[in-house]
Amino acid sequence: MPHSRFSAIAASHSRKPIEVVYPDTKTSEYFGMNVFDKDKMKKYLPKEAYRKVIAAIDEGEHIDRKIADLVALGMKAWAMELGATHYTHWFQPLNASTAEKHDGFLDISNGEVVENFDGGQLFQQEPDASSFPSGGIRNTFEARGYTAWDPSSPAFIVDKTLCIPTIFVSYTGEALDYKTPLLRSVSTLDKAAVEVCQFFDKNITKVISTLGWEQEYFLVDEAVYNARPDLYLTERTLLGHASAKDQQLEDHYFSAIPQRVKAFMADFEIESHKLGIPVKTRHNEVAPNQFECAPIFEEMVIAVDHNQLIMNIMKKTARKHNFRILFHEKPFKNINGSGKHNNWSMATNTGVNLLAPGSTPKRNLLFLTFLVNTVKAVYDNQDILRASVSTIENSHRLGAAEAPPSIMSVFLGSQISKILDEIENKVTDDKMTPDLKTELKLNVGKIPEILLDNTDRNRTSPFAFTGNRFEFRAVGSSANCAGPMTVLNTAVAKQLYQFKKDVDAITIDGNKRDEAIFKVLRSYIIHSKNVLFEGNGYSQEWIDEAASRGLTNITNPVQALEALLTENVEKLFTETNVLSKRELHARHEILVERITNKLQIEARVLGDLANNHIIPTVIKYQNILIENVKGLRDLLPADEFEVLAEPQMDMIRRISKHKTIVQTKVVEMIQARKRLNKIEDSTEKAHEYYVTITEYMKEIRHNIDKLELIVDDDLWPLPKYRELLFTN
Ligand code: ADP
Ligand code: MG
Repeated sequence: MPHSRFSAIAASHSRKPIEVVYPDTKTSEYFGMNVFDKDKMKKYLPKEAYRKVIAAIDEGEHIDRKIADLVALGMKAWAMELGATHYTHWFQPLNASTAEKHDGFLDISNGEVVENFDGGQLFQQEPDASSFPSGGIRNTFEARGYTAWDPSSPAFIVDKTLCIPTIFVSYTGEALDYKTPLLRSVSTLDKAAVEVCQFFDKNITKVISTLGWEQEYFLVDEAVYNARPDLYLTERTLLGHASAKDQQLEDHYFSAIPQRVKAFMADFEIESHKLGIPVKTRHNEVAPNQFECAPIFEEMVIAVDHNQLIMNIMKKTARKHNFRILFHEKPFKNINGSGKHNNWSMATNTGVNLLAPGSTPKRNLLFLTFLVNTVKAVYDNQDILRASVSTIENSHRLGAAEAPPSIMSVFLGSQISKILDEIENKVTDDKMTPDLKTELKLNVGKIPEILLDNTDRNRTSPFAFTGNRFEFRAVGSSANCAGPMTVLNTAVAKQLYQFKKDVDAITIDGNKRDEAIFKVLRSYIIHSKNVLFEGNGYSQEWIDEAASRGLTNITNPVQALEALLTENVEKLFTETNVLSKRELHARHEILVERITNKLQIEARVLGDLANNHIIPTVIKYQNILIENVKGLRDLLPADEFEVLAEPQMDMIRRISKHKTIVQTKVVEMIQARKRLNKIEDSTEKAHEYYVTITEYMKEIRHNIDKLELIVDDDLWPLPKYRELLFTN
C-alpha cells in the first residue's frame, strides 16, 4: 500500500494551476448578475409591489401576503430565466455557518407539472430545525423553528438555487440566529445616532452602520490535507513540530502570489462579483500559505451576508482547485493565526461618514462626538466586547504575539489624542469665554489637515482608529461578523442615547448647545482615558500596565463568556431591545457547550492519532534501533561496542521516555474526560474541559513533536509542517 504521507506529497507536487474561465466582459457588466437587486425588482415586479418592497427595505415597512405573492412571482420569473430549479431559505443559525434546505419549484397542478413559488413560500418556512443549537429555547414539545423572509437582504442564485435570506426564530419568536439581533442592533443604532445627529444637522434622518471585513485564511493542498485527520476533523493541526523555516524571513507577506493560488482567487472573485460582493483586495499574508481578501465596505447587514456567502464560495472553489481552505483562527502552532478585521463606521442619509473628519468646525465636532462616544462605549463594555470574539479557536490566537491580547484597548493616533487632550485641558465646567470657544472650534476645524499626514498605524491594537473608521481586530477568521458587530452597535447606541440625555441636561442649565457638547465630551474623555493605549499591545509591559489601569484581561474563553450573564450586559441588551434575557442566556449556553464539544472532538482525535498512528510508528523505529544495537554487539569487541552503540542506545531511551509519557497521558486524558462528562452544569463542564483537557493535549503534543525529531522521516505517517505549509 502506498504510504499516504508520501503519495500525498507527490500528488501535491505534481499539480498544475486549474484554468480559470474568465467572463468575456468587464467586471462592471456582470457584477451582481445573480442578485435580485433593486434594478431587477424594478424590471420584474409590478409597480405597486416594487414600491412596497423598497419601503420595506428602506423604512422597514410591513409587506402583506398579496404583495408577497407578486414579489414571489417576479423572483421566480427572474430566477428561472437564469436556470434556477430550486429555492431555499438561507439563514445563519448559531452553529457558525449558514443553513439551507432546498425545495424544487416543481409542483403538480390539475395533474400537470408546473413551476410554482408563491408568497407563502417566500415569507416563511418551517425547517425541521431541532438539530440547530437553541440553548434550551426550543422545548422538545415545540421543536419548530421558523425562517422568515428578510427583504432588506436581496435574494441571490447559487448553483441553480434561488437563495432567500431569512431570519430564524423559535415558535415563541425568540432569535435562534445571528441575523435577528444584528437587525435589531442596526435599527437601535440608527435611532440613537439620528437623535445625536439632530444636534448638528436637522437633515439627518437615517444612520446606517457600515462594515468592511478583511478575511484571512490558509490554503493546504487537498492530498496533504487528507493525510492529516486532525485537519479534516478539527481544522487545525493537533501535532507537528515547527518547520526549520516558516515565517522568520518575513518573505511571504505581499510577495508574488503562487500561480495555483492566483487561479483559485480569480475563480472565487468572479463568482463573488456575480453575486454582488465587491471583493477588491487580495494578497499573501505573513505566514506561508496564508492569504487575505477584502471587499469594499457595505451597509452592515449586507456585508455580513456577503462574508458568510463568500466563505462558502471560497470553500467550494478551493476544492475545485485541489485545495482545502482553513478558516480556523490557529491552524498551526507558533505560526501567525488568522483574523477577520472588522472595519466599522456609521454613515448618514446626507452622505456623511460619521467617523471621518469634515471640512467645517461643525462637521468636525460631529465627528469628535461619534469618536469619543465610541471610545467610551468600548471602555464601558470591554467585557462583552471581548466575549463577542471569545471562542475556543480564537483563544489560541489572541495574545499569541501576532494578535492583540484579550485586553480591549483603543488606539487613536497621536493627532487625535492631542485634540482630546486639548479638550480635556481647556474646556471648563464654568461658562466658557467666547475666545476659548472660537479657539477650540478652530482647532477642531484643523483635524482633516492634521490627519492627512497622520501616518500612525498601530497594528497591535485590538480596536484602532484608522482615519475614517474603527477597526475591530480581535475578531476571529471563522467568526460570523454579526456577533461582534451586534455588540458594538448596541454598546454605541446605548452610549449615544446617554450622550443625548447628558447634553440636554446641561443645555437646560443655560449652556449653549455646542458648549454643552464640549463639556460632556470632556467628561467622557476623562472617564475613558484608561482604555486609550498607543504603545505595543503585544508587549508584556502593556499586560502589566493594563492590569494597573484596571482593564480586564481574560484569556479563558469560558470565563470571558460569563460577561453575557452579568446584570450590566442584560441591561444593555434589554434596554435597547436587541436581546431578551432569555435569548442572552440561551446564547451563553450554546457558546459554552460549543467549547466542550470542540475540546471533546480534539481530544478524541489526538488520542486516536497518538495510539493508532504515532505509537505504532515509534515502536517500529525503536525495534530497528534495537536490532542495530544487537547486531553491533555480535560484531564488535565490548569496549568498541559501548562507544559505537551509545548514540542508538540514547535514542532508544529518549524514544521510550517520550513514548511512555504519550501513552500514559492519553490514558489519563480519556479518564479525565469520562470524569468531566458527568458534570451537569454546562459552564462548569466547559471550564473544567478547558483547564484540564487543554493541558493534557499540550503535553501529549509536546512529546509527539519531540518524537517527530527522532524517528526516521521515511516512517513518519503524517505530513509534516513543512509539507503542509510549503506546497503550493
Ligand atoms: P488595511 O489592510 O490597511 O486595514 P484594507 O484595504 O485591507 O486595509 O481594508 C480596509 C477595509 O476597510 C476595506 O474593506 C474598506 O472598504 C473598509 N472601510 C473603509 N472605509 C470604511 C467605512 N467608512 N466603514 C467601514 N469600512 C470601511
Ligand atoms: Mg486592516
